[in-house]
Amino acid sequence: MRLDKFQKEQLTFGTPTPIQHLSRLSASLGSKVQIYAKREDCNSGLAFGGNKTRKLEYVIPEAIQGGYDTLVSIGGIQSNQTRQVAAVAAKLGMKCVLVQENWVNYKQDEQGVYDTVGNIELSRIMGADVRLNTAGFDIGIRPSWEEAMQSVRDKGGKPYPIPAGCSEHKYGGLGFVAFALEVMEQEKELGFTFDYIVVCAVTGSTMAGMVVGFASEGRERSVIGIDASAKPEKTHAQILRIAQNTAELVELGKPITADDVILDTRFGGPEYGLPNEGTMEAIRLAARTEGMLTDPVYEGKSMDGLIQMVKKGEFPEGSKVLYAHLGGAPALSAYASIFKEG
Ligand SMILES: *Cc1c(COP(=O)(O)O)cnc(C)c1O
Repeated sequence: MRLDKFQKEQLTFGTPTPIQHLSRLSASLGSKVQIYAKREDCNSGLAFGGNKTRKLEYVIPEAIQGGYDTLVSIGGIQSNQTRQVAAVAAKLGMKCVLVQENWVNYKQDEQGVYDTVGNIELSRIMGADVRLNTAGFDIGIRPSWEEAMQSVRDKGGKPYPIPAGCSEHKYGGLGFVAFALEVMEQEKELGFTFDYIVVCAVTGSTMAGMVVGFASEGRERSVIGIDASAKPEKTHAQILRIAQNTAELVELGKPITADDVILDTRFGGPEYGLPNEGTMEAIRLAARTEGMLTDPVYEGKSMDGLIQMVKKGEFPEGSKVLYAHLGGAPALSAYASIFKEG
């Protein structure tokens, strides 16, 4: 497998992200399974970082070398992706246009904070041209995005497109191949290997990259995706497609099949961006046992999946499970109204 032939722009801190033993969380669930977290939520000094920052390391070189002057990206109103693109644009001295769509049926509470705080606030502070759009949730390519691209060209600029979650970008899966290789190096130091890796999946390139990376050691089926899109068929198909494309890019040397993409669909409801009771309980438990913050859109759902699987005994006793914490906590303030009682 070859990852080193691809150019990389360092946007994260450049050191392996920490792997922490979540001992109090493990104990609170009976200690039969030991839970660890790899902290991608702490991977960069660029506006809190997160999984998109790691993906962008392999996406951005083309934008720099091609002489592009404006990064254009898209996401929901509280998108972590667009906040991370805004930060990268600021750091590289580029302009940034962000299309923020109505992906979440979250009712504005009485203070109307959803489109003013959290991620969108940070993107505005970093100087991005933030454009609200009324289109609904879809992980594919959108007309509003084409319009944003054209508006940059109309002003004589050169827009570089970065699709939702970086996932449709040809190099969108490479960052999390690197993540998997990094875990395998860390395992040597730790002196053990993880039996399972639990990761949230929506636009798919995070999980796809991990599947490819771990496939180099025959461990592709130890990656358990927790769907948070609540449109799991589309998400599964997209993960598979990106994994196959990425496997070819890095010359994995063996096929990735549909059965290699294990996506658990039990925890993503009721819909994208809206937590269920389990999500809320998981957010509280991780926060109260470990001081580790997870969000109601993504990481609270994968944390819920992990907790439920431990409780139901779905991991064999003695398993070591790695939770990939992908970021997302900056969205928490937009959900203030559902945490009034903690
Ligand atoms: C984008 C995002 C995800 C989902 O990653 P995909 O690659 O889109 O599947 C999960 N967690 C957080 C915090 C994210 O920002």
